[in-house]
Amino acid sequence: MAWTTIHKQPLPSESTPNLIDEEAMRTPFSWETARTELAGLPEGGLNIAYEAVDRQVQNGLGETIALRWLGKNGERREYSYAELASLSDRFANLLERLGIDKGDRICVLTGRIPELHISALGTLKAGAIFCPLFSAFGPEPLRTRLVKSRARLLVTTSALYQRKIQPQRAQLPDLEHVLLVDSSDGDGTHSLRALLEAESSQRPPPTTLPEDRALLHFTSGTTGTPKGAVHVHDAVTAHRLTGRWALDLRPGDIYWCTADPGWVTGVSYGIIAPLVNGVTLVVDEAEFNARRWYSILEQEKVNVWYTAPTAIRMLMKAGIDTARGYDLSALRFMASVGEPLNPEAVFWGLEALGRPFHDTWWQTETGAIMIANTRSQDIHPGSMGRPLPGIEAAIVRRRPEGGVDLLEPGEEGELALRVGWPSMFRDYLEDEAHYRQCFAADWYLSGDLATRDSDGYFWFLGRIDDVIKTSGHLIGPFEVENVLMEHPAVAETGMIGKPDEFAGQIVKVFVALKSGYAPSDALRRELLSFARTRLGPTVAPRELEFMSDLPKTRSGKIMRRLLRAQELGQSLGDLSTLENQEEQEP
Ligand code: ATP
Ligand code: MG
Repeated sequence: MAWTTIHKQPLPSESTPNLIDEEAMRTPFSWETARTELAGLPEGGLNIAYEAVDRQVQNGLGETIALRWLGKNGERREYSYAELASLSDRFANLLERLGIDKGDRICVLTGRIPELHISALGTLKAGAIFCPLFSAFGPEPLRTRLVKSRARLLVTTSALYQRKIQPQRAQLPDLEHVLLVDSSDGDGTHSLRALLEAESSQRPPPTTLPEDRALLHFTSGTTGTPKGAVHVHDAVTAHRLTGRWALDLRPGDIYWCTADPGWVTGVSYGIIAPLVNGVTLVVDEAEFNARRWYSILEQEKVNVWYTAPTAIRMLMKAGIDTARGYDLSALRFMASVGEPLNPEAVFWGLEALGRPFHDTWWQTETGAIMIANTRSQDIHPGSMGRPLPGIEAAIVRRRPEGGVDLLEPGEEGELALRVGWPSMFRDYLEDEAHYRQCFAADWYLSGDLATRDSDGYFWFLGRIDDVIKTSGHLIGPFEVENVLMEHPAVAETGMIGKPDEFAGQIVKVFVALKSGYAPSDALRRELLSFARTRLGPTVAPRELEFMSDLPKTRSGKIMRRLLRAQELGQSLGDLSTLENQEEQEP
């Protein structure tokens, strides 16, 4: 594809990127050395929350604002590092008083409010496992997750409790305590505020070890039933370094991660990595709104912004004129994760916001960013970037008899990571067999299909499940979708393979149009011919269907498996993470 490389200009010295020479940092690199840069705890202990807040207080950042909360109705609340440290101590003391033991699961079901951050940090300090639950889930997905995690304690709001938990409390025998952030004691629930006030804000340092379990994250459910990935305290070693290198975070920065903490990004990069790097977090309670988002970037003087392709597509949909007139001069770095970032979106960033989006690749399972376009490196739009120092990535083919073959640059295969990075998941909850299938020799196999070029840049082709074979050619959705996204009428698109007697499968695309465009036969023909000219007849879509919206996960990923199941009249499978799903009463 003829996308131009975006060359990085040398930057003034006061703005030098944290990671300048990737190659020099790659060798010698050791995670042991990276770990020594953390405060640590006596006798080899390590604790994510202690690194995130207490250590910053010791380093003189006690009065620095750690969290700036923007309420949906215009309220503002700020918490310094010292305040977060003492509030999370109170929460940890409370858990102990309630008899919560190390390794017990604590679930938090709230919107984006500071009590979520305090509960997360306090849980980690107490040595319990923090498991966030996305607040828009209906009762059924919540029950499944609460049952599967065997949560003993839940922090939530009275509205969410009344609607989604209380009616099915009898089916949650492990759930002993429900703490409400906005209510006094009630029927089977307690007021979090009152309980915290009664606790001491003093507490000895945590006693966790690097390999103690710390986080439980359910995956997005894009390819099937969500899996519960378990991470350990040592993950903080990767959070700190990747925050520094991939997001260019530095103490004093104002940083905004738009991901909801109900998902891994919202915890790894919405709570841990930024706090461990001493920045001020901006947390917006409200839902997406293009003008609100630009105002936040301007008024809060955001320096580093981490968002997702689905949000960028919504900004693009709102139009470039909406972006005009905002002063974004404080913005130093913009990055994206979660789905492939179309080249179109990278260039749109340049045009509309004056800087490119930097794609980063990782998964719930990897716990932290693995592959990235860093601030100092040239961007090849459409590429995920290069592995960060400390990460060995390869393109491999599984051998049927076990093990893998490493493929050469230019060859297509499964993206694999050599095990040994600290934020790697240690388990799929109650699914040991599935966990083991993810590994071959000392490689973790990601389930994503990709290729690497001779400069070491990785290019995403699609999830292995979404790749199709037509007339002997393998086609990944990304290249087809990228081309359609270049057409001015296209807002979003998803590709599937449709069985065909002659070709095996043919390419079919689903297209949602930008406002101002209406589906018509003429537009269908125009889009098909637009794609054919650019992709050639083998790869070009043969069928195109208009949709008002594509099915997406609640974290914003296009669910091609649903497009495929609908097309083929198959069962739709697990729908727990489908966005706009009518909430079913249990
Ligand atoms: P499930 O595993 O339940 O199907 P999921 O894989 O979508 O859900 P996540 O762990 O949230 O759950 O997402 C990781 C996946 O998202 C990656 O495996 C990849 O397919 C996709 N992804 C993330 N970042 C990028 C990126 N920069 N480019 C392309 N794909 C990406
Ligand atoms: Mg996955």
